[in-house]
Amino acid sequence: MYAINARHYLNDKGAIAPEKGAAKKMVEFVMAVVAHASNFDRAEEVPGPLCHRCKQSEDQHVKTAMDDDEIIHWFCPTCSSEGRISDWQGIFWDLSRSAASDAAISPARR
Ligand SMILES: [Zn+2]
Repeated sequence: MYAINARHYLNDKGAIAPEKGAAKKMVEFVMAVVAHASNFDRAEEVPGPLCHRCKQSEDQHVKTAMDDDEIIHWFCPTCSSEGRISDWQGIFWDLSRSAASDAAISPARR
């Protein structure tokens, strides 16, 4: 079980802090989970992000949810990876206050 504070992985511009490697991939996954779970306008059938741990060829999408304390959860039915994400409110990937539905866009690179 991962317990993640979303802001710990962002730089002072609010972009993903790790610049390469496994850490960057993991943070990109976490932010995709935040975007998916916080987009209340999303159609129910839109799948969650691809699992960070399953091989991409398996095309395994995680389930996302938000609890009453606004903690975001993800769960992968294939490899049982799961985690919870806190302190995501107001970051770029927080879609809860906008009508935008395109969740996968990252902030522009410098
Ligand atoms: Zn998985």
